Amino acid sequence: MPAFLNWPTEENLSRLSADSGVPIDRLRWISCSPKTGDQATFRGQAVSMGLVKGQVGVRTVCPPCLAESPHHRSYWDLTHVEACPMHAVGLVWACAYPACGRRLGWQGADLTRCRCGADLTQAPCSPIDPDLLDGTMAVHGLLGDQRFAAQAEQALSAVPLRDLRPVEAVEFIIRVGLDIAPGVERKKLFSLEHAMMLDDPPYVALHLGLQAAHQWPETFLHIPEIIQAKRSPSSSIAHARWERAVQRWLGGIETGRGIAIREALETTALRRLEREAALGS
Ligand SMILES: [Zn+2]
Ligand SMILES: [Zn+2]
Repeated sequence: MPAFLNWPTEENLSRLSADSGVPIDRLRWISCSPKTGDQATFRGQAVSMGLVKGQVGVRTVCPPCLAESPHHRSYWDLTHVEACPMHAVGLVWACAYPACGRRLGWQGADLTRCRCGADLTQAPCSPIDPDLLDGTMAVHGLLGDQRFAAQAEQALSAVPLRDLRPVEAVEFIIRVGLDIAPGVERKKLFSLEHAMMLDDPPYVALHLGLQAAHQWPETFLHIPEIIQAKRSPSSSIAHARWERAVQRWLGGIETGRGIAIREALETTALRRLEREAALGS
């Protein structure tokens, strides 16, 4: 059985282009490219590996999208986007037919059907309050989806995101959102570590991350307390660990950018030192 993967190689793409007549650049634009180091390419932009699924053999779909046009959407392969902002529904990853229930894969000749023959365009999906999808819409727009260009522009007007590249703004929204969303403490703070530890679906984290950017810097300055509340309340180790993680991420951004985030981080470091001094005296 061949390994079906959502990461076409250049060879796959040129063959597909020759067979389908679709220009190879267009195919590249709608595909995740194989990783190089810890980066992947999504819609022509370099992104962290943690942003794209790159799973073997499994796929996720939006049934109403499939009903409109029977093709796979590249954004279904984003790690932290598990909702369709066009239809305000959660994405579907398993067959709803009780006798089947399998994870959706790539087998078969028809993207609109499960292997058992169930029609995925009619698969039940859960509606989502559109107000909670603002973060997801901003992420789509920032990653180049023109239907959400206005939301991307609005996100980039938030103080901490103003001097970031769109892909960096996406990462900031997700990393902050995952840190502040209710759930158990994640092993790696300020990371793209998958959202399995959260109480709510990932779109809620994206919503909170975008809110934190707009409520700058209040929510960001409270992240250490939010993180500490998820574990032993008095420990300042998590606070220092979170600061180091943000520093590391900022290390990948030129010094002239991420200014507001660097300044806010200095504030939280100062507060930590003051608290430690007060405890020590
Ligand atoms: Zn959809
Ligand atoms: Zn099925």
